[in-house]
Amino acid sequence: MDHSTTARAYQPDGDSHAGRVIVVTGAGDGIGRAVALALARQGATVGLLGRTQRKLERSYDQIVKSGSPKPALLPFNLETAAAAEYDALHDALEREFGRVDGLAHVAGIIGTRSPIDHYDVPTWCKVLHVNLTAEFILTQCLLPLLRRSRDASIVFTSSSVGRRGRAHWGAYAVSKFGVEGLMQVLAHELSETTNIRVNSINPGPVRTAMRQQAFPGEVPESNPDPSAVVAPYLYLLGPASQGVSALAFDCQ
Ligand code: NDP
Repeated sequence: MDHSTTARAYQPDGDSHAGRVIVVTGAGDGIGRAVALALARQGATVGLLGRTQRKLERSYDQIVKSGSPKPALLPFNLETAAAAEYDALHDALEREFGRVDGLAHVAGIIGTRSPIDHYDVPTWCKVLHVNLTAEFILTQCLLPLLRRSRDASIVFTSSSVGRRGRAHWGAYAVSKFGVEGLMQVLAHELSETTNIRVNSINPGPVRTAMRQQAFPGEVPESNPDPSAVVAPYLYLLGPASQGVSALAFDCQ
């Protein structure tokens, strides 16, 4: 079985992530929300990080209602956050939990679909910042807490166009190529001094607001629900994937 097949087939046993503290970005909507809810169902304490408080509260309420461990609300704007906000986030997690066992980067924006010839420069900068630079900063900021875990895992969310470029995907595709590069460089560095694993996941087409924005003419039901792609995230963020690092996974 190749590594993606193993991850897709992963079936957690109900409390596979018990006792783990896992921060999920984009936890208020789409794939990030589905990953956060699934992790909580497996006993993880989830840090719900995202831009819109109301959406995060919806995820929070659903987790609490289901009887899973109480999550942490982490409203945070990856586009605008300055150093002091990253420091405050680190300090809040340190105070509350003392460590972080998992970091799932799922938040992202698509920008515009346009040829490089005409790509809007401010949009380019925004997409590269939210999808790549902010992930680097957040990872750097939380690494001291991840180092305190006995079994830490970092997951980046990529895309097919981040593995093979395609016309008109512009900054989005380039940001995802960057994410793959960040994953590989960090995985190599951490393998020398820690047991923190670092991998990337390409969800494939999934029925979310982003997919609808990218393909407005598509019938939404032609793509799977976000809950259908959570298995590789659970696999990589839990003990089942110990020793697995520097790999690029596909959910479909
Ligand atoms: P959605 O648009 O449904 O969700 C994106 C999430 O990112 C939202 O929770 C959003 O928060 C959050 N977000 C966006 N900007 C910011 C910001 N500045 N600060 C904090 N949070 C932010 O997208 P998907 O669920 O579809 O995408 C999730 C990941 O999967 C992305 O990285 C995407 O590139 C990738 N992907 C998705 C595919 C698909 O078909 N859906 C295919 C391949 C990859 P809010 O809702 O509050 O704005």
